[in-house]
Amino acid sequence: MKVALITGITGQDGAYLADLLVSKGYAVHGLVRRSASADVVNTRLKWIGVDEKITLHDGNLTDLASIVRIVQAVKPNEVYNLGAQSFVKSSWQQPLLTGQVTGLGAANVLEALRMVAPDARYYQASTSEMFGLIQAERQSEKTPFYPRSPYGVAKLYGHWMTVNYRESFGMHASSGILFNHESPLRGIEFVTRKITNGVARIKLGLDRELRLGNIDAKRDWGHARDYVEAMWLMLQQEKPDDYVIATGRTVSVRDFCKLAFAHVGLKMDDHVVIDPSFFRPAEVEVLLGDPAKAKAALGWEAKTKLEDLVREMVDADLVRVKNGMTL
Ligand code: NDP
Ligand code: GDP
Repeated sequence: MKVALITGITGQDGAYLADLLVSKGYAVHGLVRRSASADVVNTRLKWIGVDEKITLHDGNLTDLASIVRIVQAVKPNEVYNLGAQSFVKSSWQQPLLTGQVTGLGAANVLEALRMVAPDARYYQASTSEMFGLIQAERQSEKTPFYPRSPYGVAKLYGHWMTVNYRESFGMHASSGILFNHESPLRGIEFVTRKITNGVARIKLGLDRELRLGNIDAKRDWGHARDYVEAMWLMLQQEKPDDYVIATGRTVSVRDFCKLAFAHVGLKMDDHVVIDPSFFRPAEVEVLLGDPAKAKAALGWEAKTKLEDLVREMVDADLVRVKNGMTL
């Protein structure tokens, strides 16, 4: 039986990946940071129905000793480093913490593996935010990076450490440069989920308006369920490498919003208010990925259409809002 260790298992991708790996017969372990709200921290794992099929371990990405101890106990064949302070806007409020968790956290996991499990395969959760101020119309593995937030800068460090440990120590370390991916399990502060939750609340009469920032920004949005499959595929390859994972289609926040309101028979113009407090100190205006390498080398392709993703998210939020559920 293969053994996987996932950091960030309580997040959106962690839940989908845990579910995928359990369905493939893996023994799945997760590193979870201690929380005073331990009863709610596994809400996503419960929602997806995998919470009782995995083992959680107390640790923190900023605490190298805890990672070493967990790796020694678990003896993983595959390690997926998904843990991060992942919200771009918060990275200006907490730039140093973001550097420690999102950047140095990756180095801590790589160091732990180098010390006690050098043969384990490593996946680094890199991001399209590293392209930031884009240097090419469609971004591929060859496009130069230009991060626009402390989050993007921290991720760039984790990305290059992954490349460097592969080249320096021959580790099987791969980096997935994933474009935005969403689902009903997306954190509520991200724009897609903020919109679908807001639409549900307005439809059910709990709110009248939805306050947003720059709705002209464009993103290449896919479904998290499809994207975790790409993570797994990367670690099944004989050789480690870096891959862009994207749909190849870009859509504005405005158009995402229109689709979400239309799904419940409402018009966004009747409810959306532009609130400058949601503008960012530096913006990533547009992202559009070129997933050709992933298709050719991994046989991977995004399966879910944006329209279906929007419907799934709005429907899930209607159920949750109706039942007073928090996630
Ligand atoms: P989430 O924000 O949903 O999950 C982040 C996870 O990291 C949570 O489990 C969180 O734990 C954990 N975490 C935070 N700080 C620490 C810490 N100090 N020690 C240990 N764990 C910690 O992110 P997603 O699931 O959406 O994304 C997964 C990864 O992929 C992240 O690294 C993200 O930056 C990256 N990524 C995501 C994209 C997307 O569109 N979703 C695009 C490209 C990359 P807790 O539950 O306690 O908060
Ligand atoms: P990001 O791409 O990782 O920053 O993901 P987000 O979902 O947080 O933001 C996507 C885009 O939506 C960014 O360009 C934001 O500026 C824009 N946006 C517009 N209004 C909002 C808002 O109210 N909240 C968030 N999170 N983003 C918003």
